[in-house]
Order: sequence, then structure tokens, then C-alpha cells
Amino acid sequence: MDYQKILDEITSQTAYLQGKGEVASYIPELAKVDSHHFGISLHFLEGNHFQLGDAETRFSIQSIAKVFSLSMAIRLLDETIFERVGVEPSGTAFNSLLQLDYEQGIPRNPFINAGALVISDILVSELEQPKQALLAFVRKLSANPEIGFNPAVAASEKLQGYRNTALANLLKSHGNLHNEVEEVLDFYFHLCSIEMSCKELSRTFLVFANHGKIPGTKEEILSTSQAKRLNALMQTCGFYDEAGEFSFTVGLPGKSGVGGGIVAIHPEKYSISVWSPKLNKKGNSVRGMKALELFTTKSGLSVF
Ligand code: GLN
Repeated sequence: MDYQKILDEITSQTAYLQGKGEVASYIPELAKVDSHHFGISLHFLEGNHFQLGDAETRFSIQSIAKVFSLSMAIRLLDETIFERVGVEPSGTAFNSLLQLDYEQGIPRNPFINAGALVISDILVSELEQPKQALLAFVRKLSANPEIGFNPAVAASEKLQGYRNTALANLLKSHGNLHNEVEEVLDFYFHLCSIEMSCKELSRTFLVFANHGKIPGTKEEILSTSQAKRLNALMQTCGFYDEAGEFSFTVGLPGKSGVGGGIVAIHPEKYSISVWSPKLNKKGNSVRGMKALELFTTKSGLSVF
């Protein structure tokens, strides 16, 4: 199959969506990003790589980073983390407060903000220098020592972080946050501020397509069973209240972020990532969603 040609077609056939949607202005630093960017990158486990557009420009990966923090927590405490956070799709917005209160402070899953805050709390408890440990982990997975936080994005989100602060306080009031709200939020905002390019993301996510083992070095990051659970969560919860739509149209486990990035994997085959900053109302990249739908349709490579 001519994958470069498929990426070419996808780029031209989604160009009409470039102006659709809005950049995430609730984080003022993100609103400054040029919304015309479009990049796509495809890595196969066998080693082939294809890319197009702004695939090497770094952007704020935002909630995509929740896959990294969840992997770290699973490594540290395995299934016991699921006593404090569920594994069901939320059907609500990623920053919803109502459901959390109604369900006594147990977030539906680790990818909505409340769930990611509980995972952040776990890492703050378990690790001596959690932010450094997080960076070391992502650098190891990506084999790239240059991956880092964007401190301006973290500060910008903190300044306007009213909803996340409310969620953290609500978790604390229900006894599901063990550290101080400020400390957990600081870790969480840094997590979301990690910057990577499409090329770096698709390469890094190959570990999740490879049963939790880093391709090349074969180092085990997650056991086969843990990788299965992580991928199941990406499939059912990776796109918040659009997880069903993404499964339906794309048919891959994946994760989105409000920076406009999406990364998805096909177990035992490949990892693909796309970046286009304008988002739909659910917080997912408009052009990115369509691009991935076209990719699995044209290539026939979805998990279903
Ligand atoms: N940092 C963002 C927030 O907490 C992440 C949301 C996202 O990417 N969906 O609101």
C-alpha cells in the first residue's frame, strides 16, 4: 500500500475543514497558536515511517499526556489504582463537576480531568520528584532527551484554572485527593504542558501498540495485560463524550488533547498522530478526527 499517497490524499481531502472549530482559548497561551498548522505522522512497528505537513513542529499535547501519567501509575501500583478511579466512559465533558459529586468523588475514568487529577495525586504521593520523574519517563519512551514542559502554558493554565481547581477541591472534600490541592494541580498543569511533535508522538506511542514493550530496546514498560487495559481505556474513554464517535468513525484506541493533537494505535501494527489546533465543541480536533477516519477507511487498518 502507498501510505505516502494516502497521507497526501487525506491532507487535501480534509483541507476544507481547516477553518472549522475554535482553538482552546480557555488556556490563553494555547489561543496564541497559529491555527493553520496541520501535521500527520505514521510509524509502523516494522520500522517504516511516513509524514506530511507540520509533523515535526512541537505543540502542547495536553490530555494526550494523561496516557503517560496513567502508565506510570499502573507501573507503580498496578490495578489498585482502580479503587480510586473507574474504567467507564463518562458521557460527560472532560471537565464536568456534576458527575464527580454525584458519584462521591470517584471519577469515571483516568482520562477525564478529575481522573487525571487522582492519577496525579498518586504520582505526587509515590515519587520523590514527580515532575522530573515524569519527564524522565517520557524521555525514555520517546528515546528523546529534549522533550520538556512549556512553563508558559503551565502558568497560563494555572492562572485560569478555575474548573480544575474546583475539581481538585471536590475530590479533596470526598477524601480522594491525599496531597495538597496546589501541589497536585501544579503537577497536573505541567503534565498537560508537555510539548511533542506528531513525529515524536507516533514514534513514542508504538510502545502501546507493542504490548507495552519499547520497540528496539524491548524494554518492558507495561506487562501485556497492563497494556491491554490501557488500550481498552483509550478505546472507551480517550475522547470524552465523543469516545463512541471516534470508535465508530476511526476504530482505533487513541487519545486527544485540547492542543489539537490526536494519537491512535493499532495493536501489533502501527501508531498514527495528527495535529490541527481547531477543536469541536467536545474538545477534539475537527480536522484531526476526519483525517484519522479517512486513514482507517482508505487503508482498511482499523481494529474492527
Ligand atoms: N489541560 C487541559 C485541562 O485540564 C487538558 C484538557 C484536554 O486536553 N482535554 O483542561
